[in-house]
Amino acid sequence: MNRLVVVLLLAAVPALAERPRLGVVLVIDQLSADTFNARLPKVTGGIKRLVNEGYVFHEGRYEAAPTITSVGHATIMTGAYGEVHGIVANDWIDAETGKPCLSTQDAAYTVLGRPAQERDGTAPTWLRAPTLADAVRASDDKALALSVSAKDRSAILCAGRAGLAVWFDAEAPIFTTSTYYAKEIPSFAVPTNEKFAQMILKGTFQWGLPAGGITGKSPTLPAGSGRVGDSEPFAERKELQPILDTAEVDVALEGVKTLGLGKDEIPDLLTISFSGHDRLGHEFGPDSKESLDDFLHVDQEIGRLLTALDTLVGKGRYVVAFTSDHGVAPVPEVAQKRGLDAGRIDMKKLREVLDADLDEQLGRQDWFAGSKTPGLTFTPALRAKALPQLARLQKLAKAQPGVIDLLSLPDLRGPFAALFARGAFVGRSPDLIVITKPYWTYNSVDRTGHASPYLYDRAVPVIFFGANVKKGQGGTAEIIHVAPTLSRLMSVSPPAAAQGRALDEVFR
Ligand SMILES: [Zn+2]
Repeated sequence: MNRLVVVLLLAAVPALAERPRLGVVLVIDQLSADTFNARLPKVTGGIKRLVNEGYVFHEGRYEAAPTITSVGHATIMTGAYGEVHGIVANDWIDAETGKPCLSTQDAAYTVLGRPAQERDGTAPTWLRAPTLADAVRASDDKALALSVSAKDRSAILCAGRAGLAVWFDAEAPIFTTSTYYAKEIPSFAVPTNEKFAQMILKGTFQWGLPAGGITGKSPTLPAGSGRVGDSEPFAERKELQPILDTAEVDVALEGVKTLGLGKDEIPDLLTISFSGHDRLGHEFGPDSKESLDDFLHVDQEIGRLLTALDTLVGKGRYVVAFTSDHGVAPVPEVAQKRGLDAGRIDMKKLREVLDADLDEQLGRQDWFAGSKTPGLTFTPALRAKALPQLARLQKLAKAQPGVIDLLSLPDLRGPFAALFARGAFVGRSPDLIVITKPYWTYNSVDRTGHASPYLYDRAVPVIFFGANVKKGQGGTAEIIHVAPTLSRLMSVSPPAAAQGRALDEVFR
């Protein structure tokens, strides 16, 4: 081989400088690309560092629908859409039994630290594809994967089967896991849990940021109860959200130290999903001070995390992917004021209208087993009888305010059919998928919501940062490419069922 050929060969093979010891996935729940970009001038913490030193895509897109927390987390981590990973919503109606099912429920396991309750989130049983955590664990006996969130479904769908999921349980209320993952509450969560116990004992905790968005004082909690008053889960109180963000980083860092993540040459994985931003977004909307407050707080917490990892793992020895599980629609009333056709679909009314028509055509029956975003599921025994009425039902649905179309699962045709097909799984997705008009939401309780195929819900930020990542910006990333890209940056195999590929532009 002559010298020129050798030189050319060397130039053609991009060498990864050093295998990172830790991969980190950071998810801010409910963060649209637009909201993120608009807030960028305000960041001073970890997000500023990710943006200044990493590779920043103009946006990342989910090329699938619906856009919902469980679906988004499963997609980020498996590198595949719902048609492959099988997670079609946070909860669905099982088409065979007609019974509701949560995306992470499995009664074979129990949440550690409190009595079991019906439909607890405990395991990744419904997840049909390996996550990046599974891929990392599969790479070596010594490889570890830890996933932390304030929501069970976010932690579990990131950890997959072989990682360790730790989440803040609303009922306990502590950071815990289930018997699927461990025999005991992980020791590294105990110091944070003790802090919560103190706060709850004193009955008060207060929060306030300079922007003045989130302020509040918690009332005394009934002993041993995760609920405030009659029904509000403790975990969803607005003033708790920034405290939970901090606690998530505390638990994650204690986990890194205790388990020894990033300690040896074998790459480990840490995933943190910041849930508070979603809860505040639903309650106040993406334009609110409360949502901004929490975002800026998470920015500081990510800064604290990166600084700690610089010491614990070493600068340039870890690599980060930052993204979100879905965006959010503008508050419908705000959009209306700005002259847009916006509003809230009355899903209850829609169900009544369709049920009444089927009664008239085919005889009085309870035609629907239930309604879960984004649609309606027939009563299993009546499905075959009801489906031939599709054309009538579509016409009736389209006459309801905010409905642009009604798609039928076995035969997805019409606007956004391709997106919903990628997100659908027969047996779990609704029989009838309701397509909203732009700026119309499914929800009537929250100030705003998500799940639609529109870009405010589908477009989110995507940033890579750290070992082997080129500084730069540009392009649109598809979310199924995030896990394959991070796995290549870590020199581990991508998640086995990934539909995405590594994004070449981020590599140094
Ligand atoms: Zn979410």
